[in-house]
Amino acid sequence: MIDAVLPTYARADLAFEKGEGAWLVATDGRRYLDFAAGIAVDGLGHGHPHLVKALTEQAGKLWHVSNMFRIPGQEKLAKRLVAASFADSVFFCNSGAEAIECSLKMARRYHWGEGNPERYRIITFEGAFHGRTLATIAAGGQAKHLEGFGPAMDGFDQVPFGDLKAVKAAIGPHTAGILVEPIQGEGGIRPIPPETLRALRAIADEAGILLLLDEVQCGVGRTGKLFAHEWAGIAPDIMAAAKGIGGGFPLGAALAVEKVAKHMTAGSHGSTYGGNPLAMAVGNAVLDVILEDGFLDRVLQVAGHLRQSLGAIVEAHPDVVEGVRGEGLMLGLKVKPENRAVVGALREAGMLVVAGGDNTIRLVPPLVIGEPEIARAVEIMDAAFTRLAPASAVKVASVA
Ligand SMILES: *Cc1c(COP(=O)(O)O)cnc(C)c1O
Repeated sequence: MIDAVLPTYARADLAFEKGEGAWLVATDGRRYLDFAAGIAVDGLGHGHPHLVKALTEQAGKLWHVSNMFRIPGQEKLAKRLVAASFADSVFFCNSGAEAIECSLKMARRYHWGEGNPERYRIITFEGAFHGRTLATIAAGGQAKHLEGFGPAMDGFDQVPFGDLKAVKAAIGPHTAGILVEPIQGEGGIRPIPPETLRALRAIADEAGILLLLDEVQCGVGRTGKLFAHEWAGIAPDIMAAAKGIGGGFPLGAALAVEKVAKHMTAGSHGSTYGGNPLAMAVGNAVLDVILEDGFLDRVLQVAGHLRQSLGAIVEAHPDVVEGVRGEGLMLGLKVKPENRAVVGALREAGMLVVAGGDNTIRLVPPLVIGEPEIARAVEIMDAAFTRLAPASAVKVASVA
């Protein structure tokens, strides 16, 4: 008989009872070091006192009223995001896919509003992941996500990863914009080099089309800047954020510059839950912490140490790990055994990570980890990788 829960996930047979910072406690009492963070969502770890307080205080006051009314928490969070980013206006929703949907709608609506309704097509990159709705699986273009759900929604042209020549060749009279993750997440932690992002900005400007960024996974402090594109010194026209922005509370946002946002007039888009008082209380609390003086500097510092330690792991276990990639606390290890076997071995050893494309494992820990968590992660990886390839292992302590 089919499970009562729709069987769309290949779940590990493991459930948790509570979380503390970067640690999760399973229902059998076992403790796990959480470098998965709910897939780069729990940026402030589990049970962060400031978030718990914000949520519980709001829960006692007001949960939901709908967007028929003003929501002061929304106005506050939008103003803060606008002040801290390229954007002039923000739409709140509940997930990454919805943030991308809104971004795609804004791109079409912009060209429609500017008198070019024929410009509706979006250029995307191989290996992309933008969500699981009909539009976002078409945007991602991955066969495994499209299978059985055809016909794929029209309006997407995919080019090889980071291929600027192919981007230029794909631009035509129907092109509305380019959509790109500054660091591909599901695709296997593949960063777009800053100079390529700058080139994409220039190409978009020259063609009169829009640059849309998907920062659902790489945004909100994960790279040591509030948003990853800041490293390239460019600004998009539209950007989707989610995952870390709610610290575990379902929250997404589509941010845009005024020339785009002004076409999204009353009635053009909406969400019943989007930006409700509960979500806004948590979103504002997340931002309180991330924008605190020194928080992002600390992320960078910790990320530097983690990366260094991973370098030692690569040296010590060449039969298991090929290399490290990524930025900040969005790191990937390209592994030699099947990546799901490595994820399983680490879980056995007490550490949670996420499988990614290109046979990688993703290390996306809470941004609040420190030296003790890094040291423990190295110990666990060393032990697990030794078990995976016992013959070739060198003790990691000698290189760490
Ligand atoms: C997770 C993710 C999405 C989809 O977010 P959901 O909240 O699962 O809808 C979109 N884009 C990127 C880059 C993601 O990592």
